[in-house]
Amino acid sequence: MKKIEQNEILKSRDNESLAKETMKNLIAGEWVETDEVSKNINPSNPSDIVSSFYKGTFNHIFETIDYAAKVQKEWSKSSIYLRQEILEDIANKLLDKKEYYGEVIAREAGKPIKEAIDEVVKSAEFFSYFAAESIRSRGAFMDSPRDSVDIEVINEPVGVVGVITPWNYPLAIPAWKIAPALAFGNSVIFKPSSQTPAIAYILAKIIDSTKLPKGVFSLTFGKGGVIGNALAESKKVQAITFTGSVGAGKELAKRSIGSMTKLQLEMGSKNSLIILDDADINVAVEAAIKGAYNANGQKCTSCSKIIVTPGIYDEFIEAFKAKMQTLVVGNAMDKSSQIGPCIDKGQLDANLAYIKLGLEEGAKLVCGGEAIKNDTDGYYFSPALFVDGRSDMRINQEEMFAAIACVIKAKDYEDAVEILNDTEFGLSGGIITNDLNKAMKFKHDAEIGNVMINLPTAGMDNHVPFGGRKNSSFGSREKSYAASDFYTTTKTAYIKY
Ligand code: NAP
Repeated sequence: MKKIEQNEILKSRDNESLAKETMKNLIAGEWVETDEVSKNINPSNPSDIVSSFYKGTFNHIFETIDYAAKVQKEWSKSSIYLRQEILEDIANKLLDKKEYYGEVIAREAGKPIKEAIDEVVKSAEFFSYFAAESIRSRGAFMDSPRDSVDIEVINEPVGVVGVITPWNYPLAIPAWKIAPALAFGNSVIFKPSSQTPAIAYILAKIIDSTKLPKGVFSLTFGKGGVIGNALAESKKVQAITFTGSVGAGKELAKRSIGSMTKLQLEMGSKNSLIILDDADINVAVEAAIKGAYNANGQKCTSCSKIIVTPGIYDEFIEAFKAKMQTLVVGNAMDKSSQIGPCIDKGQLDANLAYIKLGLEEGAKLVCGGEAIKNDTDGYYFSPALFVDGRSDMRINQEEMFAAIACVIKAKDYEDAVEILNDTEFGLSGGIITNDLNKAMKFKHDAEIGNVMINLPTAGMDNHVPFGGRKNSSFGSREKSYAASDFYTTTKTAYIKY
């Protein structure tokens, strides 16, 4: 990957031009308009229209699938050096304008600008990583128990891959799905979240500007149910990788069963952080604050259950309260904001409803939990802390996707782990302790896909497998060497000589 250079931030002039153009769908290698136009807005300032886009229809999606299936045959035989060059080109083009692309993410997803620019850099890293993966040798040559027979194990592209993504990582999640799909010789049909179409359009324009053959990559906007159902029910789509809510993931699974589509579903979660008596209080507070409130709690790996043992309970709550009161909530485009707005009014209303519910369930609200007004009328919410919670409360069972944390007192380590595992989800979880034995034991006791020791529950690296258990994930792991499992299919060839 080329060296990151400091580019000048492109000012609002560029954002305005984005709003003036109605973004088209990339169907069968052509940029096309449809009959229906939708708009997306800036949650920091709802009067700011970020972009407008043509919604894809059932007919468009079938045309896309047919063409993607046709061109995939040739693409599957393409040179691995060509794939490497294309993916590296995408990485470099993302980095060339990382500040501007970060601004687009900040405006449409409400992600604070620094984090948004970091997301662009991370996304470029995925393309660069899979550029290298595309030239790694795959397959195996095996001996046979039979005389004069050789065996080859070949990893072939799976075929046409549908990529359906959420709004909260509107560039990084598409990047970690599209990059391996192309690296391993598949066609891609990308359906981004309707809340973050602008950064998806920018990515599609970048991909379309490379040497990738026309039609190997398509972009289709439109309603999740409509596009998702068409992808799921088509026999020409061999695999769908989806990240989003449990409800949409399960609907996709039901729809795909008739065509036996290979599925990778990354869905919601309910993550916990355990703090034991012997924890370093500063490490505990830092990890809990970052895990609970970064990105407004709108990460699948955010922690909203904080499980604390009695010896440190009062001290932790005091220190946590003091720290959370220093957090700056504000416009995502303002560099001093640590927490941006909720993604939309629906999410803000849901946050307020969870505060009401938590109080009704008997938890004690010690800080935050209110809608905050400012001069741009964004969907701001003050990070909230409940204490004296119980694991069976709905606020401690449901994914709130909100900057709301609840502290639960546990008797000891064993009780804490039981509370952590008391959920239908299993994505991430952590423990803060200086007890090596407990830390090591926790790695095995936690029924989750990502274990964090003396770290926040959110913040995973790019080059290692990612995924969860129970209702959080279905199918192969994402990112890293593990991605080839989903994006390829294994063929075993026997050769008599
Ligand atoms: P969402 O409403 O489920 O939407 C995700 C994507 O699915 C969007 O592109 C959406 O399109 C589409 N969609 C909606 N209904 C569909 C259906 N019936 N069939 C196929 N696709 C459908 O989720 P979100 O609100 O964008 O994202 C938040 C959720 O994502 C949270 O639950 C969070 O935990 C989860 N998430 C999980 C991970 C992980 O790695 N486990 C990472 C990030 C986020 P429209 O926008 O057009 O509706």
